[in-house]
Amino acid sequence: TDFKDVGLDPTIVDNVTRMQYSEPTPIQKNAIPLILDGYDLMACAQTGSGKTAAYLLPILSKVLVKVKQDPPIHRQPGARRSKAAPLALIILPTRELAVQIFDDSRRFTYKSRVRPVVIYGGAELGGQKEQLARGCDVLIATPGRLLDSLERGAVTLAKVRYLVLDEADRILDLGFEPMIRHILLSPDFVRDGVRPDDERIYYESDEHGVGAGIASRASTGSGAGLLQTLMFSATFPSEIQMLARDFLKDEYCRLR
Ligand code: AMP
Repeated sequence: TDFKDVGLDPTIVDNVTRMQYSEPTPIQKNAIPLILDGYDLMACAQTGSGKTAAYLLPILSKVLVKVKQDPPIHRQPGARRSKAAPLALIILPTRELAVQIFDDSRRFTYKSRVRPVVIYGGAELGGQKEQLARGCDVLIATPGRLLDSLERGAVTLAKVRYLVLDEADRILDLGFEPMIRHILLSPDFVRDGVRPDDERIYYESDEHGVGAGIASRASTGSGAGLLQTLMFSATFPSEIQMLARDFLKDEYCRLR
């Protein structure tokens, strides 16, 4: 498999090539086609597995396709909106991770009209609000600052179609579970249920224990307004399994 063959937008493929990624890692081979196809995904992934690109590439590719359909008038430089309305929301436990994922997103969307923005706690809200007001297609955020920005009306989740919880175990370890559940329960998110006979894919880990996952897709009614949710976690304590059961298009995750 090659990054050219998985169905990513050509601009994204060019940027991957520029970053000298030669071949997709196992989790990228497994996850990219599933995510492009609209599956919800709960994946076991350690740092170093290439998990970041495994979700960033297909999501940025889908966002790019949507952004291309926008009338250009709405995307002129300097155009201001009162509220940022991202298509994709990526939640991370720490500022360091958020900044790192933001940097990767910028490299992957180079020479495209997709605009990623990062917000995190411990920094002044002013500069981040300024960035948000300039437009935001992909929002990369830590939980506390995200909630704060929602409450202050700087961000709306009304357009979010792709939601990622990365390092979900660390998010919960840091005590963010109530905040995360509050955000995930937003009435802006329209989810589709999965019935017992709906299509489900299980894939197994490689010899390093990387990339085991479960993906599910409702066979009916997967309309354009529905949310696609992806969860990545290095470990699978019961809290993570419950989060997956509550918010993914599946009842529970079974991993080895
Ligand atoms: P991650 O597991 O997402 O933290 O990525 C670990 C490191 O591997 C990062 O520095 C990535 O830039 C790099 N990386 C991810 N995917 C690939 C790939 N397919 N080929 C080469 N390097 C990669």
